[in-house]
Amino acid sequence: MEKIVSLSKRRGFVFAGSEIYGGFANTWDYGPYGVQLKKNIQDFWWKTFVQERRDIAGLDSSILLNPKAWEASGHLGSFTDPLMDCKNCKERIRGDKLIEENLGIEKAAGKSLEEIGKIIKEENLKCPKCGKCDFTEARAFNMMFKTHQGVVAETATEAYLRPETAQGIFINFKNIQQNCRMQIPFGVAQIGKSFRNEITPGNFTYRTREFEQMEIEYFVNPNDKKVIKEKFEEWKEVSKKWFLDLGIKEEMLRFREHEKDELSHYSTMTFDVEYKFPFGWGELMGVAYRGCFDLTQHQEFSGKSMEYTDPQTNEKYIPHVIEPAFGLSRTTLITLLDAYTEDEIEGEPRVVMSFSPRIAPVKAAIFPLMKKPELQKVAKEIFDDLKSDFIIEYDESGAIGKRYRRQDEIGTPYCITVDFDTLEDDTVTLRFRDSAKQIRIKKDELGEALKYLIKENKLELEKNWSLTKNFK
Ligand SMILES: [Zn+2]
Repeated sequence: MEKIVSLSKRRGFVFAGSEIYGGFANTWDYGPYGVQLKKNIQDFWWKTFVQERRDIAGLDSSILLNPKAWEASGHLGSFTDPLMDCKNCKERIRGDKLIEENLGIEKAAGKSLEEIGKIIKEENLKCPKCGKCDFTEARAFNMMFKTHQGVVAETATEAYLRPETAQGIFINFKNIQQNCRMQIPFGVAQIGKSFRNEITPGNFTYRTREFEQMEIEYFVNPNDKKVIKEKFEEWKEVSKKWFLDLGIKEEMLRFREHEKDELSHYSTMTFDVEYKFPFGWGELMGVAYRGCFDLTQHQEFSGKSMEYTDPQTNEKYIPHVIEPAFGLSRTTLITLLDAYTEDEIEGEPRVVMSFSPRIAPVKAAIFPLMKKPELQKVAKEIFDDLKSDFIIEYDESGAIGKRYRRQDEIGTPYCITVDFDTLEDDTVTLRFRDSAKQIRIKKDELGEALKYLIKENKLELEKNWSLTKNFK
């Protein structure tokens, strides 16, 4: 993890927040390459789950909701962490986290305050600061960030920064269903920031108080158990596949089903995708069957009907919902961890970020071999020719080997070099990041070649590629 934190800073992926003021605990800023990487991941998610599907609509709801919505959803009452204090050193800890860190995630999930206190005592789990096992009773601490809306203190309304994007979807269920003529089963997708006042954040960007989510609420007919089961299975499959399509190594992923119960107990059914972080397995996304709890609550608290009428059968019901919830910040972190590779090129050690081409922040870099006007001119022409279609960089400073290394460290999959042969035969060198292999290609074919490589998510052009006739 330290290597990733240091590379992230050195190469402009992620900086510590408010650094010039000595930092601000647990905040991180995404630098030029980090923001592009994160954007590519979120675009790929949107493309997979919104653009390419007819049954999912997009949404961008407010971070601030009417506080009644949080009352309805149960967040005001019970969105809490089990907080405990060490009686010896006064360290404040999260009981469930202490269990998770010592005994694994399975032992901690879904335990009550009482159970948490009991497990800690029985297993004699120690305070991470002083090593004693002497804690206060676990008590509930609400994790929502509170703020005020309005300028006059007396009349200002208490408001909350949303702890999840899901509720914005539920309160817009009728808007989308009716105005966009969606028929069940259908889903609504949203990407955005959420805020949780975590007691023990940490592990770089893994657990932060401000984070980004990519969530879908998928509405189904509660009486159609067959479809519910099919859709739940389908969401498990497409969620797994999405991470593999991102280029994440399969052996670093784990798929965990919480409960394999009868359909009647479906409300407890959850499926998680986890990643093998340097600190252990950690959650990346989950598919949960949420029943009709949220819509029913909003109907009750708002007085507005959340009922759906089936246009074919006239059957009326409050839909049930399957929720695939992905962490965008966490997915960005695992692409950094997963891509980090140390290898050797011509006997020289190098660090290379092996991002899959579809999410690499920079797709190609263009270099004149040397700072000679005739080479610079051609290289700049190529840059201008490609810049509207791809995120690319132009670099003419330093030795060519140094420039390759720099691009390797930010994970640029392809490098294009203009040399003296270019002036003779209009070909350039196209270098592939992971193998450091080089081929020559006509400069007029670069656009097509890059488009093909990125679309197919390929690290190298194969020999029989249709425009390969000009290879030397
Ligand atoms: Zn202590």
